[in-house]
Amino acid sequence: MLDIKDIRKEFPILDSQIYGKTLIYLDNAATTQKPLCVIDTISNVYTTMNANVHRGIHHLSQVATTAMEGSRETVRKFIGAEHSHEIIFTRGTTESINLVASSFGGTYLKAGDEVIISTMEHHSNIVPWQLLQERIGIKLRIIPLTAECGLDIEAYKRLFNGQTRLVSVAHVSNVLGVTNPVKEIIEIAHSHDVPVLIDGAQSIPHTRIDIQELDADFFVFSGHKIYGPTGVGVLYGKEKWLNAMQPYHGGGEMIKTVRFEKTTFNELPYKFEAGTPDYVGIIALGKALEWVDSLGIENIAMHEHELTRYAVEKLNTIPGIRIFGKPDGAALSFLIGDIHPADLGTILDRLGIAIRTGHHCAQPLIDYLGIPGTARASFAVYNTKEDIDIFIKGVERAVKMLS
Ligand code: PMP
Repeated sequence: MLDIKDIRKEFPILDSQIYGKTLIYLDNAATTQKPLCVIDTISNVYTTMNANVHRGIHHLSQVATTAMEGSRETVRKFIGAEHSHEIIFTRGTTESINLVASSFGGTYLKAGDEVIISTMEHHSNIVPWQLLQERIGIKLRIIPLTAECGLDIEAYKRLFNGQTRLVSVAHVSNVLGVTNPVKEIIEIAHSHDVPVLIDGAQSIPHTRIDIQELDADFFVFSGHKIYGPTGVGVLYGKEKWLNAMQPYHGGGEMIKTVRFEKTTFNELPYKFEAGTPDYVGIIALGKALEWVDSLGIENIAMHEHELTRYAVEKLNTIPGIRIFGKPDGAALSFLIGDIHPADLGTILDRLGIAIRTGHHCAQPLIDYLGIPGTARASFAVYNTKEDIDIFIKGVERAVKMLS
């Protein structure tokens, strides 16, 4: 059992006063707050070991390089990857997907080839493929939703044909908070010899990932959604794909030799890490994952699932409530009557309660649902049932004011 009171002590920001009220932070799907050990790591790297990595013969550079490569190993273990060179550091989920679109696309895709995504994708798993559509003429095929807002797996099976080259879907929807059956999705794709990218932005903080068991070809996530710093993320890719794919960015670090006549590229993972990496952020991300491991991701998930269950139960007592989909994780989206979510969010903000409202970077899903947007509450390990009680009281008050 986790001691949430103790955990909260590691997050000084949770004591913030917002308009005279103690902050209730329920926007964790957008970004999580950071524990002191992560904040201290950033400060510690700059005060004790700052030097550019991978190129220095001198002591500090070697210390920083060792710490950064230690983080790569931490990430490898955290997701159960076979090789640490299958872990590529990026700026986040968005950059990781763009990397795959550009490098996998550049190597394997031509006009008429098809990529399957779903109706519930974040813009970062839509637009990179649309850019390829414009650049090389690929086609996008979209998995529709069932009446319960889950992925329609029967319809998904029918999308495959001789032109299908890649499937790219979210593990957990950032709007609905529903978990997609990614193992089944991957098995179906593999039965057609088609690789799969899983957008793990919303699953990594709440789910044990065993990448080899899942058998995903690519898995991407952002550090800032799992108690790590902003500006760093991960692309996991199977060695065979990463080795075959052309590089993404060109520059220092990603080369072996550079001649004006011909340049040869570095081995994995450096081939995909051009330029000075955010080694400070990467080292702090390693710390964040160690911190999560020290609590146990299963314990975190259990706590958050209970919060979600409790929030759904309480919200369902409010007349006119609509909760979208069947949230089974740490986020839920709702509307009440014809109250605009932005109005609701503004009133809650005045009460010190931070939720997110709008399209959540998933406009096609919001259009499909035929609504102006949603109000979304999302939870992290430091949230409590008391937070939810205050949130529910806030919602009830807002409803009275707006009705
Ligand atoms: N995919 C999903 C499912 C997300 O929730 C997010 C962040 N909201 C992203 C991708 C993009 O993540 P980032 O902005 O950290 O690159």
